[in-house]
Amino acid sequence: MNDFSAKKQHLQQALASQQGKLRLRKRTISNLFRYGSWKSNRSEGLSLADFNNVLAVDVENNMLDVEGLATFESIVDAVLPLGRLPLVTPELKHITIGGATVGIGIESSCYRHGFVHDGLIEAEVLLPDGRIVLCNSTNAYSDLFHALPNSYGTLGYILRAKIRLMEARPFVHMKVVRFANVNEYLNVMQQATEDNHIDFIEGLFFSNTSFYLMTARMVEGVPYTHDIVRKHIFYKLIQQTDDIYLTTRDYIFRYDPDWFWNVPDTFAYRLFRRYAPGRFRNSGFYTRYCQWKEIWQRRLPWRSGKETEPLIQDWEVPWEQARELVDYALENIDLEGKPWTAVPIKTPASPSIYPIKANELYFNLGCYCNVSKAPGLEANHYTRILDRKCFDLGGIKMLYSSSFISRGKFDRLYNGLGYEQLKTKYDPEQKAYTLYEKAVSHSNIN
Ligand SMILES: Cc1cc2nc3c(=O)[nH]c(=O)nc-3n(C[C@H](O)[C@H](O)[C@H](O)COP(=O)(O)OP(=O)(O)OC[C@H]3O[C@@H](n4cnc5c(N)ncnc54)[C@H](O)[C@@H]3O)c2cc1C
Repeated sequence: MNDFSAKKQHLQQALASQQGKLRLRKRTISNLFRYGSWKSNRSEGLSLADFNNVLAVDVENNMLDVEGLATFESIVDAVLPLGRLPLVTPELKHITIGGATVGIGIESSCYRHGFVHDGLIEAEVLLPDGRIVLCNSTNAYSDLFHALPNSYGTLGYILRAKIRLMEARPFVHMKVVRFANVNEYLNVMQQATEDNHIDFIEGLFFSNTSFYLMTARMVEGVPYTHDIVRKHIFYKLIQQTDDIYLTTRDYIFRYDPDWFWNVPDTFAYRLFRRYAPGRFRNSGFYTRYCQWKEIWQRRLPWRSGKETEPLIQDWEVPWEQARELVDYALENIDLEGKPWTAVPIKTPASPSIYPIKANELYFNLGCYCNVSKAPGLEANHYTRILDRKCFDLGGIKMLYSSSFISRGKFDRLYNGLGYEQLKTKYDPEQKAYTLYEKAVSHSNIN
């Protein structure tokens, strides 16, 4: 069904007959990664699966109209051939524009353009009571607009978004520089944020003597391209060569083929990597495979002796605290050869329920793998200690993954008072879960 107005009417009717609290149903995988307590939910979920189309590309004015559940893969495929890209495009193909807007999407262009939500011009939002409102930064619903980032669907669902685009070129030339010293690494990364010739900045680091800085720029032509879908594994390639040439599409989704670095580098997987049909070579397939594997492993009478903790998290601290966070992470957690990610971020505006300072450089630390746990440590030990360190350094963490924060602390960190007022205004009958419920107390709810 492609008539946006008809789909909205149909959705409002479906919402009216919903039992229990609101829950989102969609066609593509979820990129939430919460592994805390579970809560059963009577609701089958409200299906937004049909709201997944690109509606209109305005090349002249660098704007895109898109439905809320459209994936970044479909967005990039619609705009890149026209020489355009969203200002910030998450690296996993199946992340959606709605999910990344309410879930603080980031990427290697964040130092220049802020978060995914900073590119939002307006949004049509389905409120939990069934009304559909258009919000932007200045109209009567501007408070809703400014509270969408970090709301995770608890104030309503984005059905349509108008976002800004930027000019793009077909290829990317990436320069890789290795550092053995964290101070030098951070200084050069910070200097790069002021260089107008660079389009993308990020880092990967493996130990306290092995830091990689990748700066990239979009170009019209390259001497050749590296194949990071079949032949090379991106995070290994950066350790082997100083110049990497990619198509812009491959660059944008560079961590998708290996779900960052989680596709095991075994002989069987190498074969799979090389020869499996394209529809299996993406993070969506791998996420489904992992969910399936976990369900089956839970049923097995025996278990592997190795205890691990999924540490899939992002933390942001003011740039001056970056060194201390990096040192702490490296001293306390062994990723066994897998990297940490480092991304500089500067947002032009502070969202009301993700209080990060506007126009100040932040350091984003990311971890996207399982970590072996020493016996006797409390559950989710590594998540807890890194969260604590981040907050002690005046930082904030994203909530797409598990959190174990007390209600009081959560309210202090994420403007609980302001959120309460918005919740009373936009969800007076409490049909949707609260942010604390979704992010902390019942973490299986999407
Ligand atoms: C392994 C991993 C890697 C990640 N890597 C990146 C990355 O590279 N870059 C990045 O930016 N982010 C990354 N993320 C975070 C990701 O952007 C957020 O989890 C985001 O919210 C996921 O969006 P989704 O479209 O997959 O939505 P879902 O996972 O399906 O939903 C996420 C939440 O958003 C709500 N939601 C979804 N759609 C809408 C909508 N239309 N309107 C309102 N609410 C909605 C849902 O109710 C849910 O609470 C990563 C997450 C994981 C687990």
